Amino acid sequence: MSLFKCKICCHKKLSLKSWCKECNKLFSLVQKNLGILGLGQMIDALIATGIPKDRIKKFLESDPWGQGSILDQITAQLTNNLASGIGVKGADVSAQDVAQQRKKPLHLASQKPIE
Ligand SMILES: [Zn+2]
Repeated sequence: MSLFKCKICCHKKLSLKSWCKECNKLFSLVQKNLGILGLGQMIDALIATGIPKDRIKKFLESDPWGQGSILDQITAQLTNNLASGIGVKGADVSAQDVAQQRKKPLHLASQKPIE
């Protein structure tokens, strides 16, 4: 019998599905709570599953659809919820924007010189 590797956390698994059952569990938790829980609460909920933290970390850092990591997608969603909550228009943030800002925070600066 051969073992397969999960696409997300690289953990060995028995089934042919591309994601292991732990990653599926984490993902359904994220889907269910997106826009309901804040980032800290979301991480708490993921840790509360009892799944090892290193696998949760890999899950959050994975980019299964090439649209930015799961963590960046959660952050983008929270940012958009917040912006629309306070009435900011046309400020849709994508997971790619979040990744860009995380890597190059100085790019967030406006063009106005610091006085
Ligand atoms: Zn996995």
